[in-house]
Amino acid sequence: MIVDDLIVYGKSKVHSDLAKMLLADLMGVNSLELLTILDQEVPEEIVNTYKYRVDELRKGRPIQYIIGNVNFCGNIFDINENVLIPRFETEQLVVNTVEKIKELWPNESVDLIDLGTGSGAIGISIKKRLPNVNVTLLDISTAALEVAKHNATKLEVNVKYIINDMLENLANKYDVIVSNPPYIKTNEEIEDIVKNNEPHLALYAGDDGLDCYKKILSHVKENIKNKFLIAFEIGDTQKEDLFNLASTYLTDYNIECIKDFSNRDRMIFIWSK
Ligand code: GLN
Repeated sequence: MIVDDLIVYGKSKVHSDLAKMLLADLMGVNSLELLTILDQEVPEEIVNTYKYRVDELRKGRPIQYIIGNVNFCGNIFDINENVLIPRFETEQLVVNTVEKIKELWPNESVDLIDLGTGSGAIGISIKKRLPNVNVTLLDISTAALEVAKHNATKLEVNVKYIINDMLENLANKYDVIVSNPPYIKTNEEIEDIVKNNEPHLALYAGDDGLDCYKKILSHVKENIKNKFLIAFEIGDTQKEDLFNLASTYLTDYNIECIKDFSNRDRMIFIWSK
């Protein structure tokens, strides 16, 4: 079979863009280059893998897990079912956190911890942009931290790792805490493709979706220095909750909510006065 035949086959089963992405990945080209090799004969092994993958896609497995990687902030992160698929919106948390660090610490190097790092997407992307920042990646899941370690090695950044449940019994102090923790309510309706494939440990956070923020903020005083920055991704209805939680556990701080590109409240920045 030639490339063109396989595109036609894929299109009859799944969305044509996805079919092309799958085949391009297997042929080692990008989706545009694929269109320049339409007459090329495809080895049988690739044909079989491709058909198997089209089937998986049709059954509702996310393409990022099938291909095994995702572009986040301009770097390719390898992922598997032990970690959340890094989201486009989270890139904005990285960009805004980097800006805030530059503003607050223009010349000094800072100690930063990424809580619930998953694939390492946030912490590693910050380290890529600000090489002087000392980055620690933390996760409760050993399997997730393995993915983060793999990505840090592949992307050639030197970072530290901690397996722990957020800040429970953690002695170290940091200048910057960044996190995109689980924040979905136990009974919240979410897309099937997310619910059926991504780790629930990385998605759900109790009846109000606030368990992780509470867990972090209730300990945070012991783990931040006098001058600090806390940066969270949040669900778009959680702004008020986070403002309330901050006032419960902290004093003398600035707080700001930043919207994502879709104009939804999606990030909270809390920093010392
Ligand atoms: N920090 C990771 C990310 O943003 C994982 C987040 C999570 O598992 N809740 O992609």
